[in-house]
Amino acid sequence: MIAEVIVDVAAHPIDRPFDYAIPAHLQVLVEPGMRVKVPFGPRKVLGFITAIKETSEFDPARLKPIHELMDVVPVLNDELLEMAKWMKIQTVCFEIDALQVMIPSALRAKYEKRFVLNAPLEDIAEPLRSYFEKRPFVRSQDAVEVYDLLKKELNRGTIVADTDISQQTAVKKVRMIHIADSLEKLESIEIRSNAKQQVKLMEYMKNHAGKAIESSRLQKEAGVSLPTIYGLVEKGAATINNEESYRDPMLDATIEQKQSLQLTEAQQTAFDAIERSLNTPKTFLLHGITGSGKTEIYLQTIDQVLKEGKEAIMLVPEISLTPQMTLRFKERFGDLVAVLHSGLSAGEKYDEWRKIQRAEVKVVVGARSAIFAPFQNLGLIILDEEHESSYKQDDSPRYHARDVAIWRSEQHNCPVILGSATPSLESYARAQKGVYELLVLEKRAKNQPLPDVQIIDMREELRNGNRSMFSIPLAEAIRERLERKEQVVLFLNKRGYSSFVLCRDCGTVMQCPNCDISLTYHRSSELMKCHYCGYDEPVPHICPECESEHIRFFGTGTQKVEEELAKLVPEARVLRMDVDTTRNKGAHEKILSAFGEGKADILLGTQMIAKGLDFPNITLVGVLSADTTLHLPDFRAAEKTYQLLTQVSGRAGRDVLPGEVYVQSYTPEHYAITLAKDQLYEPFYDQEMAMRRASGYPPYYYVVNIQFTHEDLMTVAGYADQSVRYLQSQLSASTIIIGPSASLIARVNNRYRYQCLIKYKKEPKLADVLQQLIKIYRSEWLKKGATLSIDMNPTSVM
Ligand code: ADP
Ligand code: ZN
Ligand code: ZN
Repeated sequence: MIAEVIVDVAAHPIDRPFDYAIPAHLQVLVEPGMRVKVPFGPRKVLGFITAIKETSEFDPARLKPIHELMDVVPVLNDELLEMAKWMKIQTVCFEIDALQVMIPSALRAKYEKRFVLNAPLEDIAEPLRSYFEKRPFVRSQDAVEVYDLLKKELNRGTIVADTDISQQTAVKKVRMIHIADSLEKLESIEIRSNAKQQVKLMEYMKNHAGKAIESSRLQKEAGVSLPTIYGLVEKGAATINNEESYRDPMLDATIEQKQSLQLTEAQQTAFDAIERSLNTPKTFLLHGITGSGKTEIYLQTIDQVLKEGKEAIMLVPEISLTPQMTLRFKERFGDLVAVLHSGLSAGEKYDEWRKIQRAEVKVVVGARSAIFAPFQNLGLIILDEEHESSYKQDDSPRYHARDVAIWRSEQHNCPVILGSATPSLESYARAQKGVYELLVLEKRAKNQPLPDVQIIDMREELRNGNRSMFSIPLAEAIRERLERKEQVVLFLNKRGYSSFVLCRDCGTVMQCPNCDISLTYHRSSELMKCHYCGYDEPVPHICPECESEHIRFFGTGTQKVEEELAKLVPEARVLRMDVDTTRNKGAHEKILSAFGEGKADILLGTQMIAKGLDFPNITLVGVLSADTTLHLPDFRAAEKTYQLLTQVSGRAGRDVLPGEVYVQSYTPEHYAITLAKDQLYEPFYDQEMAMRRASGYPPYYYVVNIQFTHEDLMTVAGYADQSVRYLQSQLSASTIIIGPSASLIARVNNRYRYQCLIKYKKEPKLADVLQQLIKIYRSEWLKKGATLSIDMNPTSVM
């Protein structure tokens, strides 16, 4: 028998299956989807078995055998193996990248250099010999002091260098104590009366006869030490067994189970449409304003799917995967829910994944990569906030979870629900054309009115002499809320607005020495940091150019806003939520729950607070500057601004108290801002579609972004230029190629960046032509230090 194996080497000529012989003793075990260790050239690497066959076009006698089988149960099922092949073509990636992204990181390979004995132990010189006395190998990191000896022995051939492969995180095992179940047996065990500890433990055991308990818990509960337990085990009072266990990320002992709500008429209509199609590969676009009860529909359709004995995947953007959100699912489905988010450790994610693989859970709620949940019997896939750009992975494999969802729905004959208050233009256009079925919720579920949105012209404020970042009306509104003991959310649209350090005498802005971008001032550490390459340096006291002392930081980071706020309303209790305050695990949740419990009056934050926040006492939302996303050089700038404003306003007045929203802007007449005011999606869609049509962007055209990098500017420009000429010669005349041009951030980490954009409507040859381009790159440019990356349907072209 022969196995086809995709090896863990992301390189060009290797991007195909290799044939390996299956040793006789493994033949009964091997299945496609298992991980193996295989020899590859001089080393050993991890690989995935993708197929098993009888014959090979290579001489079977010369095929190398599989070295070791890493799994007893496949980690990838047939569907996922098939999907990897599809992703490879769809996203132009290596098949190994596609396979790796589908499994939890815990199962990815860890390669460790080590030295293995290749001669009798006596032949090795001391002190190295003593290292080998303990084990037949020495790990390279454990032998730092004897590197010179290692080198000598290596040259003599008495030891050889080797690579050990293991997975990154193991299954967690716990020591379980199984107490004998016969009371007679326990009573018959003799214990000396002065062995106080043993007497105490025996007492406990008699009260818990027949029970199994983790040894650490037994120690605590019985108040005894481990040797005491061992003592009684030896006497036959209990047995010890190492058993597999799950790390429990949620301490959710006491979640109250909740029943479904009575659906409103609009919800019922949408629900019925989905229910009718539960066994059809159909995509629904559920367009409902914030608070219209989309989540309730998700919960009830999932419930229906579970009743049919099937499983469901519920995707939410990472940042809205809040405890509130997961709680709603746990309340409805209890232990049947697995939750996957980036706050979990690799081990915790692995445990959640195993529950899915073993069909111990039926629903997974998770961010992007949860789309690969290895369910066998999927009945429904939901993407909430389907317009979110985080559904697209921004490095290889550059897949979009929406595309994967639709692909899986076809395999399983089940529907996909795309939900949003502000659908992406692509999805809405597809719904208009009937490719997706449009379902609409026009009102909020509890019939609360939409918040009243005021747009404030900041140019006017400036003309009236207000230089503060708070307009007079917003400042007034904040004070009013403080008096009424209601809560305020202030949103800083941070992108492109971080604080930089500027010399007021010569105008020098502190730049990163490696990247063409200004350094960001971090107050907490008093450092200037580059957000692209990680470079940092202390804040200078004098200008490095002109030695002036008039150097200070500018801009409106959240810290700056916090300071201004303290001047405006000194009595207010403010919580700040941004990358700095949420770096630690669980910090995000802590801030939110503190705010929910009313421990602060104002929550100030970045993008992070735009979603998921559902507290009844929030009656005012302030957007400090609506313009920052609007002026990004990106075709989605208006769409993103509209989405953000809608989302943020949706945080106010979600319960009985009416909500008010103040949006400050320097371009208040822009349609993305005026139409977001009343959540007029359709007019926004029409206007934005007209813009897209005029400029030839999605959904009218498909876009491919190709990026080149190299240390030398002329070299990268040359490769980009060659590529464009090649593409022009190969692609059809109606296809538009823009560029090459320097990327918006023209240098990162000392590498120059160039890009070109392909815009096309129909291009049957595209996949082949791109493969050809990659071939040229890999055979010529790669060796010269260039990189080339292809992004199909990019979420942004900056
Ligand atoms: P969305 O996901 O569209 O933002 P949610 O499902 O979160 O909307 O609903 C918003 C609020 O309305 C929540 O507090 C929810 O409990 C409530 N809600 C939703 N559907 C109903 C219903 N049918 N009856 C009563 N309350 C509802
Ligand atoms: Zn200066
Ligand atoms: Zn940098």
